[in-house]
Amino acid sequence: MYHKDTIAAIATPVGEGGIGIVRVSGVGAGGIASRIFRARGSGGLESHRFYYGEIVDPGSGLVLDEAMVVVMLAPRSYTREDVLEIQCHGGYLVVRKVLELVLSQGARLADPGEFTKRAFLNGRIDLLQAEAVIELIRSKTETALSLAQHQREGFLSNRINAVRDGIFKSLALIEAYIDFPEDDILLPDNDEIKSSVRGSFERIEELLEGFREGRVIREGVSVLIAGKPNVGKSSLLNTLLREKRAIVTSVPGTTRDIIEEVVNIKGLPVTLLDTAGIRETEDEVEQEGMRLTLEKIPLADIVLVVVDGSKPFDDEDRLIMDAVSGCTVILVLNKSDLQRVVQLPDDLSDLKVVSISARDGEGIDELREAIFSMFVREGIIEGRDYTVLTQVRHRDALAKAKVHIASFLDGFGRGVGLEFSALDLRDALGALGEITGETTPDSILDEIFSRFCIGK
Ligand code: GDP
Repeated sequence: MYHKDTIAAIATPVGEGGIGIVRVSGVGAGGIASRIFRARGSGGLESHRFYYGEIVDPGSGLVLDEAMVVVMLAPRSYTREDVLEIQCHGGYLVVRKVLELVLSQGARLADPGEFTKRAFLNGRIDLLQAEAVIELIRSKTETALSLAQHQREGFLSNRINAVRDGIFKSLALIEAYIDFPEDDILLPDNDEIKSSVRGSFERIEELLEGFREGRVIREGVSVLIAGKPNVGKSSLLNTLLREKRAIVTSVPGTTRDIIEEVVNIKGLPVTLLDTAGIRETEDEVEQEGMRLTLEKIPLADIVLVVVDGSKPFDDEDRLIMDAVSGCTVILVLNKSDLQRVVQLPDDLSDLKVVSISARDGEGIDELREAIFSMFVREGIIEGRDYTVLTQVRHRDALAKAKVHIASFLDGFGRGVGLEFSALDLRDALGALGEITGETTPDSILDEIFSRFCIGK
């Protein structure tokens, strides 16, 4: 529900800071500005101009703070409503006092994400772009950030709209024929309709195929480092961690208690799961370590099995290979600075093998590249308009649309009633509209915008 009242919130993080910003949106924004702001040496406030002056309580005449103020009149603003932004001194109290003053002048405290929600409801951005704003704020790596920027700019919306266009045109033709059969409207070539809808179907498939990659880029992957004792697992872990540029903050959504470290591999957030050496042992402590390692194997997207290249491949190495069978594995032959002795058994010849020296850092770049390319296609991220599905909500809606389109193609091909075919296409459009926001239920909209912070 959209009440066109005036909302206000603090738009900067709570706490001490250089400046704090109070943001106001709605029909009352301009009036509030003229009542509480005394500009130095100028008359009225022109739209989209910054003014320096004082925030004054009109009741008591008390000066609250000096401030820079800008009014952005509708529709040229973030929300497409009149917007007022007040930049005052940062700090716990100053900004709060200014907000309270604004609220006392008739604004209401905004809900989380309500400014962006208004931008969406007023048609300035679609739902995909609104969601991109959250992604943008939460991005943990450059790559995730650039994906979010592309989505905010509308590249993903364009792809979804291209899918919709093909369906929409076909539906219009079919419906015209259903509605005015007596008007000699000729149903265009069935093949033309079919090929247009099939084009949309293929675009959907392409988008769905990119989903796994999109998820990976956004949320990252987990990498388990396994191997018997003394092959150099800790050394490898340290080498990967030592590259300072690699360290990023931990990624939400991953299970806390098993995170060891998150590193950034070519823009991909990679959680390195440390492990105790796997080997057959009577030692209780080691057995516990091994149990933990085995438990972690299914949690990993990929397992790096480290083998000491300066020693023969032995039964203990074999034991580990057996434990990770069924996993995506990169075999890491460590200690390349020493004489190479290891001979890999024939049945491992299909595995990706990377030779490194954890001690000297040799081969580490190649290993990083190997990990990255297991998940992301070469060169793809650099593309200026690279967009990809990253969210389950979008994937599910697209999958729903795909089912309806498949049903259309099947029925239309067999010559079922046109009403049924039209229904399939309408359902497909409905599912697609959920992604961009045209047909998204209110409950889902609420859920999406509640993920924002207050003031955004
Ligand atoms: P982990 O038990 O598998 O974690 O193995 P560590 O990382 O503790 O390494 C075991 C031993 O191998 C240590 O003495 C390391 O210094 C040594 N080591 C690890 N990586 C290399 C390497 O690349 N070259 C050489 N020459 N020694 C290494």
